[in-house]
Amino acid sequence: MASSRVDLDGNPIKPITICMIGAGGFIGSHLCEKLMTETPHTVLALDVYNDKIKHLLEPDTNPWHGRINFHRLNIKHDSRLEGLIKMADLTINLAAICTPADYNTRPLDTIYSNFIDALPVVKYCSENNKRLIHFSTCEVYGKTIGCFLPKDSPLRKDPKYYVLKEDESPCIFGSIEKQRWSYACAKQLIERLIYAEGAENGLEFTIVRPFNWIGPRMDFIPGVDGPSEGVPRVLACFSNNLLRREPLKLVDGGESQRTFIYIKDAIEAVLLMIENPARANGHIFNVGNPNNEVTVRQLGEMMTQVYSKVSGEPPLEKATIDVSSKEFYGEGYDDSDKRIPDMTIINRQLGWNPKTSLWDLLESTLTYQHRTYAEAIKKVIAKPVAS
Ligand code: NAD
Ligand code: UDP
Repeated sequence: MASSRVDLDGNPIKPITICMIGAGGFIGSHLCEKLMTETPHTVLALDVYNDKIKHLLEPDTNPWHGRINFHRLNIKHDSRLEGLIKMADLTINLAAICTPADYNTRPLDTIYSNFIDALPVVKYCSENNKRLIHFSTCEVYGKTIGCFLPKDSPLRKDPKYYVLKEDESPCIFGSIEKQRWSYACAKQLIERLIYAEGAENGLEFTIVRPFNWIGPRMDFIPGVDGPSEGVPRVLACFSNNLLRREPLKLVDGGESQRTFIYIKDAIEAVLLMIENPARANGHIFNVGNPNNEVTVRQLGEMMTQVYSKVSGEPPLEKATIDVSSKEFYGEGYDDSDKRIPDMTIINRQLGWNPKTSLWDLLESTLTYQHRTYAEAIKKVIAKPVAS
């Protein structure tokens, strides 16, 4: 496997060691899986949790035994961090609080996690001349320019007013009272710091801006493998509703638009970044699927149809209900109206394009959700409530 692999310029790819921070999360688990099954690289996997990568860590049974080593640590306070970064050729930082329900209810934790906790990672990479791939977010774009135009303005249809370009689009956030933007703002500042480390100190970096990557192992199902009062991202919220045969909750009418990309497509892009440093260094990349745009309401309707197909259960008569954002998320919530990634830079640098349609990615994801959770949910529902 190792000898036959070449990069985009035809050069043989040498095995490297990757320090992956946040490896136990949704994206980390898929990236570790890809690196173990398709590449010769070694991963130092850092996280507080490892439930989502347990299957990769089984001693002896896996052919990649010895190429992935888990280090349980919290990067907020662990003196091992610099040593692990030094041992690696490349650091990938995925660690973050990145669930919208936390941005307005735990703004301090959100800002610390996305800015303060990332600082030592950037510093150690810069001081030790180590390459860094940092995970930011499409949310740094905030709201589109178009959403400030009158509703009937023809300019709203002009892509100039809504397509999000890494090197041109402004970052437009709401007021400070709208604490939703604590996450985007912290991510923006760490991007600026990384960019400045590159410009002033020669840090070799790549910044990734994911646009709603979804798939198996994303977040948790409340009351089954996460807190019963927890509010995960929309895929897990809607999966939870479908599994429990409850109507899906549409926040503020489900009018916001998103483009969803299958995690496996997105991971292909990250692997290209890892293995083509000369093409990826110094760049910020949108990674999304502009062809998969829907409103949240349309997403709910499609998930209802797909779930019915994979589970064999008929959809509820009333499949959705409306809920206000204040009721669902509390004070200080706000929303991105529309997120369409411009793909020019990633196409030019890495020749990458997403493949999977929204229907197909929902079908494989909901098949997984049904297989993994349907029985567990039945047991939770059947449990008598303690009086
Ligand atoms: P995730 O929550 O599943 O994974 C994050 C992981 O980081 C978790 O396993 C968590 O335990 C770990 N972590 C957090 N703080 C830590 C700390 N102090 N020390 C050690 N580990 C810590 O989230 P994800 O969806 O995999 O996202 C990964 C990255 O991508 C994040 O930076 C996020 O902001 C970014 N992102 C993801 C999406 C998406 O569509 N999934 C969209 C935009 C941005
Ligand atoms: N949303 C919703 N119902 C839910 C969960 C989320 O209508 O049960 C909406 C949310 O208000 C937002 C969109 O779905 O408009 C996507 O939310 P998500 O939490 O996935 O993250 P975001 O894309 O906002 O970062």
